[in-house]
Amino acid sequence: MLLPILKYGATELKTVSRPVDAFDSELERIARNMIETMYSAPGIGLAAPQVGINIRLATIDLSVGEDPNQLIVVCNPEVVVVEGEQKSEEGCLSIPEFTETIMRPRKMTIRGQNLHGDPFEVSGEGLLARCFNHELDHLNGVLFIDHLSVLKRNLIRNKIKKLAKAGEW
Ligand SMILES: [Zn+2]
Repeated sequence: MLLPILKYGATELKTVSRPVDAFDSELERIARNMIETMYSAPGIGLAAPQVGINIRLATIDLSVGEDPNQLIVVCNPEVVVVEGEQKSEEGCLSIPEFTETIMRPRKMTIRGQNLHGDPFEVSGEGLLARCFNHELDHLNGVLFIDHLSVLKRNLIRNKIKKLAKAGEW
């Protein structure tokens, strides 16, 4: 089932999400719907708060459904190692049509749990590290525009306000 993706302005996007503690069929259902929603968007990552569910769950797939081996579903992710820096253009399904250059770690290893509660670690470089960092931010109520200067962030905010006024957000 496709879930509506919340846009900038929704309180769920500014909320620190609570840990996943029940690894049950309901969690599996949410994850399945998130994967379907992410592929349909299309996007390479989706965090549960973006579909209005404030739990620490994220789905990531750089292949957008082309390669089943690239799908990562992670509950309660934590940062284990960060290394280096990278600067590149970034966007978000919750802030459509806007992209900005954001500094992120070049490499990142995260530790989390799968849908059965089993712990695992996964490392990523480049775009995957960027994606880990972006989705972890979502679970803490942080959006990519929060990494911008106040000036740039306000520019985007004002544009979104205008869009919202016109009923286009
Ligand atoms: Zn995002």
